[in-house]
Amino acid sequence: MYDVIILGSGPAGLTAALYTARAGKKTLVLGGDEAFGTLNKIPNLENYPGFLGSGTALGEFMQKQAEQFGAEIVFKKAERIKNNFSVTCEDGTEYLARVIIIATGATPRKLEIDGAREFMGRGVSYCATCDGFFYSGKNVLVIGGGNSALNDALYLADLAKNVKILYRKPSFSRGEQVLVDRVNAKENIECLFETELSSVGGNETGLTFATTTSGDKIECDGVFVAIGHEANTDFLTEEIKRDNLGRIAPKSLPAGMYVAGDVRSELKMQVATAVGTGCEVAMDAIAYLNQNASV
Ligand SMILES: Cc1cc2nc3c(=O)[nH]c(=O)nc-3n(C[C@H](O)[C@H](O)[C@H](O)COP(=O)(O)OP(=O)(O)OC[C@H]3O[C@@H](n4cnc5c(N)ncnc54)[C@H](O)[C@@H]3O)c2cc1C
Repeated sequence: MYDVIILGSGPAGLTAALYTARAGKKTLVLGGDEAFGTLNKIPNLENYPGFLGSGTALGEFMQKQAEQFGAEIVFKKAERIKNNFSVTCEDGTEYLARVIIIATGATPRKLEIDGAREFMGRGVSYCATCDGFFYSGKNVLVIGGGNSALNDALYLADLAKNVKILYRKPSFSRGEQVLVDRVNAKENIECLFETELSSVGGNETGLTFATTTSGDKIECDGVFVAIGHEANTDFLTEEIKRDNLGRIAPKSLPAGMYVAGDVRSELKMQVATAVGTGCEVAMDAIAYLNQNASV
């Protein structure tokens, strides 16, 4: 029996683990199938105070620090939670805890247009930092207008010949101004507002074009999609209420269950907020455990 089981080994989960383990609580992190989560998608983390480097390097530091205080970290995926305190993993192992912290992050929303599934991995990508290299010197589209899309476009602009950002709104109203300014300063990035795709197509070697809803055909080699995220909460039972993107409101959870990071509703999805909420819920969990010694 653990005092605390934390689901997820991104910045939210590892921060929570550091706090609960350091407070002497027996802590298990079920880290999912990707150590450090979305941190791995950030080659240059510029806006996490006090740190400059890759997201993966920060994740490694966080893991070491949590382990140093006794947190046990295994990379397994939770498949279901029973009675709020028992977690069963994909391999059938069951773990019990007095407190559960959900920090399972979010997954990119899929582009639901003709050809998007067919050309997935052959021109359609959901990770610029993972796949951008394959498009060196080529023409690519970025779909979306938030910070992720702007970051993706900037990253790709250093590799690709030409980048077109397609956004359904009239301006980058949701993007940080510093990113918008950088995008505007790049000669090989073109912004097409109020533009949406209706299909992508190509041949056996891969994607060669995309078509907009107004019927324009754009020749391109790759389409990078950054249109938001859905929370990783499929493993939860229906009793745990979620919004239309699968995210959990902290106040909706039963006593002894907590939520931190990108999986939490109405949170700005950043490393700093993941760390902040990881810290916050860990402190709540420690207080709960101290006040409910019999649980
Ligand atoms: C391309 C890109 C660039 C970004 N750049 C920046 C940036 O420059 N600055 C910034 O501040 N933020 C950036 N972000 C956002 C930032 O990475 C996230 O907000 C942050 O990592 C969220 O942390 P998290 O711990 O909530 O979730 P995640 O980092 O997504 O971690 C979730 C964890 O949960 C695990 N998991 C999933 N399902 C299960 C399960 N069933 N059981 C157990 N574990 C599970 C996963 O394996 C993973 O370990 C970027 C995001 C992207 C996609």
